[in-house]
Amino acid sequence: MRKRVHVLYAGGTIGMRPTESGYAPAPLADLIRDQPELRAPEMPELEITEHSPPMDSANARPPDWLRIARDIARRRGDFDAFVVLHGTDTMAYTASALAFLLRGLDRPVVVTGSQIPLAVLRSDGRQNMLTALCVAARDDVREVCLVFGSRILRGCRAVKASAGGFEAFRSPSVPPLGLAGVNIEIAAERLRPPARAAIALPDALDAAVGMLKVYPGLPAEVLRAATAPPVRGLVLEAYGAGNVPDRDGALQAALAEAAARDVVVVAVSQCLDGRVDLGAYAAGAPLVAAGAVGGLDMTSEAAYAKLVVLLSEGRPPAEVRALMRRDLCGELTG
Ligand code: ASP
Repeated sequence: MRKRVHVLYAGGTIGMRPTESGYAPAPLADLIRDQPELRAPEMPELEITEHSPPMDSANARPPDWLRIARDIARRRGDFDAFVVLHGTDTMAYTASALAFLLRGLDRPVVVTGSQIPLAVLRSDGRQNMLTALCVAARDDVREVCLVFGSRILRGCRAVKASAGGFEAFRSPSVPPLGLAGVNIEIAAERLRPPARAAIALPDALDAAVGMLKVYPGLPAEVLRAATAPPVRGLVLEAYGAGNVPDRDGALQAALAEAAARDVVVVAVSQCLDGRVDLGAYAAGAPLVAAGAVGGLDMTSEAAYAKLVVLLSEGRPPAEVRALMRRDLCGELTG
């Protein structure tokens, strides 16, 4: 039986056309339908829809993640799998958010895009789309993946690592789920078991969450502004194993003020291959004192998306703090 796959074009370079001011989003469904390979008998049966207007993913906001998740949740009974065509700039955020929003889904969602538009010579979009469709049509993958070049990655572990390379994404702390070479090889032991739970999407993804990188000389005012109301959560990219300056009283006071307002502060490592363990150094103490949570080996993208989703689900801060340290969909190694 041929699988049925819903292809959803949200935007991004894959569907862009050259304009006088550079590549700009344009409708893509007809161009996809014209690809002769997609009519091959090995290909799944496709239905293609597109968001109107398609967007450059640099403009994406959490409500756009929710729109994609709603489209998928609404049509999950009609399709075996979903392929989301998306811009690369914020693809890792969207793939992470979809993993958290759709954590009850028992079928694959494959996010992909390209560095060169499908309509332009040498596009990598055709190959990425075909690989994504082949992954979507498999029986063993039941999670949100990001497929790009030869890499098949867990969506909530991916980061964009190259602005112009065809192998643009990595999953720094974990090996890829698989590789697309002559054959598509997926490591069965790395895949998530199928979830089968109700999907309860929040009414809105509207929790204000900040993201801030710690750097030498970070003024307390900057931290204070990043945690000021209406902000309810902060992803703090700390040094190494979760360190911040511990000789700066003003910075510690700003952290304490955020804690007093119950802002959920999650420390991730600014090292690409890093794991936050807040007990390791004395310089982690200000974070511990302020009730911050160590985000273990989560990427910043996953930590941000997770915090937005959990806070928008209306969970109390104490529960959000506990869940930030718990593995929900393969985003962290406990
Ligand atoms: N700016 C584009 C986007 O993220 C880049 C891309 O798709 O490669 O939509």
